[in-house]
Formats: sequence, structure tokens, C-alpha cells
Amino acid sequence: MTSSSGEAPRLALAAHDARKGEIVEWVGLQKTRLSRVRVFSTGTTSGRTKEAFPDLNITCLKSGPLGGDQQIGAMICEEKLDALIFFVDPLSPMPHDVEVKALTRLATVYNLPTACSRSTAHLIVNGLLGEAASACA
Ligand code: PGA
Repeated sequence: MTSSSGEAPRLALAAHDARKGEIVEWVGLQKTRLSRVRVFSTGTTSGRTKEAFPDLNITCLKSGPLGGDQQIGAMICEEKLDALIFFVDPLSPMPHDVEVKALTRLATVYNLPTACSRSTAHLIVNGLLGEAASACA
């Protein structure tokens, strides 16, 4: 899968606080692949990821609760994204739950490949880069 413009695929990354460590670890495992993808990420997720991997080129959006989730939603509507990886916390109530729901709803409306777990995220990145699926990380 490549973007409609034929350029590098465009991926949005976000994680709720309880799963930020997990997404940083996942990014570490996928670093080489992610260097071939245009990555956009919500504020805090982006900050944590860049701190761990300063060489990775990530476009930082607003923090999720301050509008970053809606920025990703707008990118989906404008067909400026090829996939969404959002490690949602399934065990905690969120003050911006309506925005999370709106974002995942738009991803469904636009048939955007979306992952909420490491295993599916791995498949999506392989798909974006046209690689055969190997062991899930
Ligand atoms: P954050 O946003 O990366 O700024 O924490 C993620 C979210 O909670 O939507």
C-alpha cells in the first residue's frame, strides 16, 4: 500500500497514557520500517517517541485531549492518511472519550486500516510497505 500520491505511506500514531510505554517499545521494534513511512503523532505520544528515538522523523500534532485526535480525524476525511495506529486504553474512562470515538468512527467510515494492538499494528506496517507478514512483534 502506498499513498494515493505515490509517496511514502502516511501513518498516524497515538496512545493513551497507560499504553505510551508500549507504543514506544513497539516503535523501537519497528524503527527501520517506520523510517520509510511518514509518521504523524499526537503531542505526548510524539514527545515520548522522539525522546526515545531522536532520529525518527515524526510530525507532531496537538495533544490528543487538546485537539490532536480531531486533527487526525480531519486528515482521515481529507484522505491524507493511509493508516491509524491508536493504542487505546480499554480500562480507563477518558475525558475526551467522545473524540476517541469520533476518530475511530471516521476511520471506519473511510475504511482506513486501523490498529489498537501491537499485533495488528505490525500487520498494518507490513501492509503499508508491501512486506509479507512475519512474526508479530
Ligand atoms: P497524546 O494524545 O499523545 O497527546 O497523549 C493521545 C490521546 O490521548 O488521544
